[in-house]
Amino acid sequence: PAEAPILSVENIEVVYNDTIQVLRGLSLHVPRGQVVALLGSNGAGKSTTLKAISGLLGLENGAVTAGRILFDGAPTGAEAPHALVRRGLFHVMEGRRVFEDLTVEENLTAATFALSGRGVKAASFDLVYEYFPRLHERRRGRAGYLSGGEQQMLAIGRALVASPKLILLDEPSLGLSPILVEEIFAIIARINRQMGVSMVLVEQNAAVAFAIAHTGYIMETGKVQIDGPVERLARDEDVREFYLGTG
Ligand code: ATP
Repeated sequence: PAEAPILSVENIEVVYNDTIQVLRGLSLHVPRGQVVALLGSNGAGKSTTLKAISGLLGLENGAVTAGRILFDGAPTGAEAPHALVRRGLFHVMEGRRVFEDLTVEENLTAATFALSGRGVKAASFDLVYEYFPRLHERRRGRAGYLSGGEQQMLAIGRALVASPKLILLDEPSLGLSPILVEEIFAIIARINRQMGVSMVLVEQNAAVAFAIAHTGYIMETGKVQIDGPVERLARDEDVREFYLGTG
């Protein structure tokens, strides 16, 4: 039998404040080692999907009211975000939330606090610096003084410290110059290929997402509209018109 996916989201419904239903029977699967791109118009529910997976939804008064989520073969249920981090699931939120008053290295150290009990390899910082040499150059500098691109690198670097099996990336290209987007996506692709880390990538920039993803899902108002291998999606007329601007 084929190996079980690292992540299965099965028919979930999500409601905020007990009233606003945002996800309406959403399903998606991430095969081990793959990058899955999640696209869709503003407000379709992409960020909500990531928060449902990582458990951060609970911090925003949201709840999964139906369906289930399996990570690495076990239900995520009501597990707190830090417990899921220990299991190898890391969410890099939109807007690169780093601790601006801490140095780069202190930010990485802070990322290890959630891991107590699992043990942090000293080598994990070296790994981050290997992928992001710029962070090494600035390791003693305040994170608040980093450029937007470098802060995004640090946000991803904090995920690497956790020896993740699955990283959820929410719009890593947001607000970055095309050159930096290219640089960061090349590194994301290397992390996937070399370390075998699976990823869910929420992106507005479909062309950039398709360049590194294996599979794509397109959401509309809380559920999946189309999904399939990116090669096939890239030939779909609607996808070309609405997401790639080449229709
Ligand atoms: P965007 O790209 O604009 O972030 P998205 O596809 O990621 O869009 P979400 O951020 O998941 O969409 O939002 C989906 C819907 O849920 C929107 O209508 C939004 O207003 C609503 N929503 C998001 N967060 C909350 C919250 N904390 N409380 C109430 N409603 C929310």
